[in-house]
Amino acid sequence: MAFAITQTCCNDATCVSVCPVNCIHPTPEERAFGSTEMLYIDPKTCIDCGACTDACPVDAVFPVDSLPVDQREYADINAAYFERAGEEAPEADDLGPNFHAWSEPTFERVLPSDFGPLRVAIVGTGPAGMYAAEDLLLHTRADVTLIDRLPVAGGLVRHGVAPDHPATKRVGDAFARFHTHPRVRLHLGLEVGGDITAEELAAHHDAVIYAVGAATDRRLGIPGEERTGNVSATSVVAWYNGHPEVAPDAVALSAERVVVIGNGNVALDVARILVSDPETLAGTTIAPHALAELRRSKVREVVLLGRGDPEHAAYTRSELLALRHVPGVDLIVDDHDPRVGTTIDAAGPKEKAALLRGVARQPVDWSLPPGAAERRRIVFRFLSAPLEICGDEDIRGVRVTGADGEVEISAGMALRAIGYRGVPPAGLPFDDAAGTVPHEGGRVTGRAGTYVVGWIKRGPSGGIGANRACAAETVGTLLADVVAGVLPAPTGHPKSFHRLARRRRRH
Ligand code: NAP
Repeated sequence: MAFAITQTCCNDATCVSVCPVNCIHPTPEERAFGSTEMLYIDPKTCIDCGACTDACPVDAVFPVDSLPVDQREYADINAAYFERAGEEAPEADDLGPNFHAWSEPTFERVLPSDFGPLRVAIVGTGPAGMYAAEDLLLHTRADVTLIDRLPVAGGLVRHGVAPDHPATKRVGDAFARFHTHPRVRLHLGLEVGGDITAEELAAHHDAVIYAVGAATDRRLGIPGEERTGNVSATSVVAWYNGHPEVAPDAVALSAERVVVIGNGNVALDVARILVSDPETLAGTTIAPHALAELRRSKVREVVLLGRGDPEHAAYTRSELLALRHVPGVDLIVDDHDPRVGTTIDAAGPKEKAALLRGVARQPVDWSLPPGAAERRRIVFRFLSAPLEICGDEDIRGVRVTGADGEVEISAGMALRAIGYRGVPPAGLPFDDAAGTVPHEGGRVTGRAGTYVVGWIKRGPSGGIGANRACAAETVGTLLADVVAGVLPAPTGHPKSFHRLARRRRRH
């Protein structure tokens, strides 16, 4: 028997650090780290100790002989990563010098011990901010001020993860342990750039780390984008997660067909929630208003519109596999373009497109409503770009390209799921094209003592765990600056900052 990593893998490599036999790859030291969708356990070298299961923050690791039914494929998926014969097998270099061997203990960072107390403010309590806080609290004696503009902590772990992914949400519990750490002061409902200025914050701390994420969504720039019924998927995600700034009645599910533009993991999350039996969501963290609306929902079909072919879809394999196991829901591939079927049929066993083999392929008459079939369905339309959101006041459909010419998909709702976008943090330089703050290794360009981490640093891609390595880089740069003595000295006392924060916060 061996263990296998499954669907909810968050890639933060906590499991790697506890594995005594180095059988989990790619490790953060290996070239492939960050480019694979998940981490994998080598069944040949796993010694079944279960240390990875205990350490995993998202309950993603199981013994292969007790894998849940809908996760059985992961035994093969883990093993396949280590098969050297296939095209995707990792190169010897990627496996690192200690692959298949007991590792020498390594100490990644020489910790500076010759500096006095350090006061660091972290703006944002999502995964990026919390990985930075964890790094500072576990590896230095720094005092940490955690700030969030919302009255609740958690960022995208709380308001971005779908409620039917409870294991992923559980990583929030691991972060929440640090909210009450003796060297942490947490200020919620306090907006930097609104309630307090960036200058006030900087004046009371040795360093400030901005972990503010990508707070808005990208725009399509096509006609009709402003019509009622064209909503961003990110606001639907916030709505079903009970985000305090999204009204309970912000989403009305009165359309039978919904077109989701884009096919990244956000698109799949929203599609899955919209077609799932609401009773399977009762008892999760879903907002009560969203559950009530889903119970009233008229949605029968969700169309996932992707510009690329099935091999280059933005979703990850694990999220597509999960979609195949939603009870009462059929998956269909719109057969409008022969290249779609060819790509699926020609895909090698490890290629993304191969996961759609066995999914029904059929042409769809988009002028008709989805029909009254008992089962709901998700239709993948690949190689098709949106041209216009059509209608008058309300949406009538979405005009799209395709091998069958331009067609209008009749639909009463369109959701753009084309990615998040960073918003310039007050007082910091901003790269408008990338939607990020320019930096070197996490240090904001030209701003001594100011740092960035997470999506505002590297753009809106990568899951929760990707922030761990990102935070390690930023904290490493910060500590190097402390040792080099280049941080501007704070002028204000910590107590006066906490008094100021209490006075200014909005609740
Ligand atoms: P994403 O992965 O970047 O996907 C964006 C999608 O929008 C792509 O399909 C892209 O198509 C499409 N798109 C962009 N511009 C478009 C346009 N003008 N017209 C039509 N389509 C357009 O973004 P995301 O789904 O928001 O996810 C953000 C990150 O969060 C990702 O790293 C994702 O994996 C992660 N996430 C993970 C989970 C999970 O693990 N369960 C859940 C949610 C989010 P092209 O591919 O053609 O550019």
